[in-house]
Amino acid sequence: MKTEIVTIRKLDPPESVSDKLSYAGEIIRQGGLVAFPTETVYGLGGDALNPESSRKIYAAKGRPSDNPLIVHIADMAHLDRIVCEIPEKAQKLADAFWPGPLTMIFRKAAGVPYQTTGGLDTVAVRMPSHPLANLFIQKAGGYVAAPSANLSGKPSPTLARYVVQDMDGRIDMIIDADGVEIGLESTIVDVTCDVPVILRPGYITQQMLSSVVGEIDMDVTIYDSDCAHPPKAPGMKYRHYAPKGELVIVEGEPQEVVRYINEQTALHESAGKRTGIIGTQEMMAQYHASSVKDAGSRGDPKTIARCLYTFLREFDDEDIAYIYAESFGGICEDQGFGQAVMNRLLKAAGHRVIHV
Ligand code: AMP
Ligand code: MG
Repeated sequence: MKTEIVTIRKLDPPESVSDKLSYAGEIIRQGGLVAFPTETVYGLGGDALNPESSRKIYAAKGRPSDNPLIVHIADMAHLDRIVCEIPEKAQKLADAFWPGPLTMIFRKAAGVPYQTTGGLDTVAVRMPSHPLANLFIQKAGGYVAAPSANLSGKPSPTLARYVVQDMDGRIDMIIDADGVEIGLESTIVDVTCDVPVILRPGYITQQMLSSVVGEIDMDVTIYDSDCAHPPKAPGMKYRHYAPKGELVIVEGEPQEVVRYINEQTALHESAGKRTGIIGTQEMMAQYHASSVKDAGSRGDPKTIARCLYTFLREFDDEDIAYIYAESFGGICEDQGFGQAVMNRLLKAAGHRVIHV
């Protein structure tokens, strides 16, 4: 298949942007697939109400078909058609955080095909805030099923060139716009129960959600890799975001962490293996490896969120065999955005953590 790559830049005239998105929307209406930018990561879109489109999405990504897709909408009035009911708390959360990086799980209406929901009676819905995503969804008919636009198992794409790397020749069109803003996937909250449950942490934190609707639970499997239950978001059970090299997270006193990481990289480098490090700005000057990545200041999880997946892909391009990451200390225990960053890092590392 020939993949058309359409470039849209910030200063393009609105009529030209609108024409390009109309064309992209038409591809979706005809049952085709288009990758598009959102504020979280690039999405791989198809018509959510067309079972054949969902089947194509799974095939293009190589994604297991029990891992359901998120349906993207651009208008609150469109929600009624795809869900059985809108619980009061869901309405409040939508008022507070839509459009934005929040996905909610509802009981699905009959019109949503099981191919889109991975066989579940529930449907995940999000209203993105990215203006291009918004207009594209409207032009596509209002309901765009879209997982992240990467091959299954690879880091989600935060830049169009990574979408091209993974999807060229597999889908009809890629919209190449500027880089995304947040860099991590949306927060997923199940609103089908009395107390809403976070199934995947993200930019919208537990505290932000609680401030609107009170008590919020957290799926126990998010941080407990040995938990006996499967996660409630089927996709969370798969290894994700994995770089080709072996990634290890190193925890401990900052100076000890630096000492341990440098010792390990020296060992591997002397054996002819290329090594990489993800560290905080404060420690940068002290590290030695083939590739050292600056994740920004320790206190600012937003910077690391924005660059984490890019770093993982760069390590692949640089042929790095062993990667060491600081643990972004303690931010895992706070209830904030750092928790979401740490969740992704742990998954990328296959939960390999070393305490020094
Ligand atoms: P991605 O599209 O790559 O961001 O992944 C979507 C995530 O949403 C996966 O972890 C899915 O398992 C999860 N998800 C989608 N629909 C549902 C649903 N109905 N119930 C629970 N989790 C869902
Ligand atoms: Mg994904």
